[in-house]
Amino acid sequence: MEMIGHGGKEIIERVLAKDAALKRVAEMKAAKVKTLDVRLQMATEILDIAYGFFSPLEGFMTKADVEAVCNNMTLADGKTVWSIPIVYDISSADLEKSGIKQYDEVLLTYTGNPFAIFDITDIFTLDTKEVAMKVYGTTEDKHPGVKRTYQYQDKFLGGKITLLNPPKINEPFTRFWLTPKQMRAKFQEKGWEMIINHQTRNVPHTGHEWLMKGAFLGAYGSMMVDKPRGGVLVNAIIGSKRPGDYIDEAIILCQEAQGKHGYFREDTFLTTCSLWDMRYAGPREAIFHACLRTNLGCTHHMFGRDHAGVGTYYDPYDAHRIFNKVPQGALRIKPIFNLDWWFCPVCDEVTYSGLCGHKDKKASFSGTLIRSIIQDGVKPPRRIFRPEVFDMIMTCAEKYGFGNAFVTEDYLKNRQPVFTIEPLK
Ligand SMILES: [Zn+2]
Repeated sequence: MEMIGHGGKEIIERVLAKDAALKRVAEMKAAKVKTLDVRLQMATEILDIAYGFFSPLEGFMTKADVEAVCNNMTLADGKTVWSIPIVYDISSADLEKSGIKQYDEVLLTYTGNPFAIFDITDIFTLDTKEVAMKVYGTTEDKHPGVKRTYQYQDKFLGGKITLLNPPKINEPFTRFWLTPKQMRAKFQEKGWEMIINHQTRNVPHTGHEWLMKGAFLGAYGSMMVDKPRGGVLVNAIIGSKRPGDYIDEAIILCQEAQGKHGYFREDTFLTTCSLWDMRYAGPREAIFHACLRTNLGCTHHMFGRDHAGVGTYYDPYDAHRIFNKVPQGALRIKPIFNLDWWFCPVCDEVTYSGLCGHKDKKASFSGTLIRSIIQDGVKPPRRIFRPEVFDMIMTCAEKYGFGNAFVTEDYLKNRQPVFTIEPLK
């Protein structure tokens, strides 16, 4: 099975087997190495690094990497495309208190349990305003990615990560989280040669369903149709939430429901998730998503209107245009650019701006409309929501969302964590 990821290198997996991990932790404790307890933001990215979601990254970025990412959209090697800094921040006070120096080997813990080894090769500072401008195209802290950048502490640590303690992925996410290597094994099992990724943070209405179907039909064109040789991979982004977002549980279970109830054949459809805190970096985030899904083994990636954008910071098609700026061959995945799908009452079907001539009659799937349908809780026509998908939204609202399908303060405070790190024994 091919295990080549982004940048043309073998998928990174930096995870110690249990016996080796137990031995290393005992040695590190005996040697009284310095320890740092990481917050959820860091823990998420440590898992992404260790399992190769971020291949070819082997750890948190050094200053040279961050500068190359900001200035040239590559890593420090000058050729591997990378669009978003992956950094580990710490305050000067905490750094001083810890006594950590360059070339130290540090034991990272999460919720108090041994988690990973951090080989620190660089300690540096960044001009966060400059990073914001280069990555997000704005310095306004209303932009959530910029806000996150400004919230970083004043010092950064770069170096390789080795995972000591695999995560326990909690329900209902357990069956949806596959590492890049597991994902590729799954594709092989399914006999898929063409894998179209659909990036999502939404519960699917029929507009989304048709985006996926359109991309599937378009990409399938050149393949023999005697048996399914490809499929749509829904890869939901699960990570930090903002009030008003869909709750994670509804996203993943409603996506899966489309396959369970036959709107896609199960042999051409797979629902999974990746852990990532959206940065809303628009075009640069589109490039990042392409790298991530290359590592998952996908051959195609859908990019919709205003992909990963927020507010009016980006033109709706900036995230398409940026692919023209990437050197040919630098990405091992083919972008599929989706335009606008809508429902046409004259054609009586979901159609597309490039096909239907009844433009003045179009009924768009506006976010506000969809939101009000869900909040009313009255089952909408099946041409807007598949009934089983709609039922699942309501079930998830009750079971996981404290009565709401959208993120509330209550949800943020009281939800079950997506993953936990248990004592290592
Ligand atoms: Zn029409």
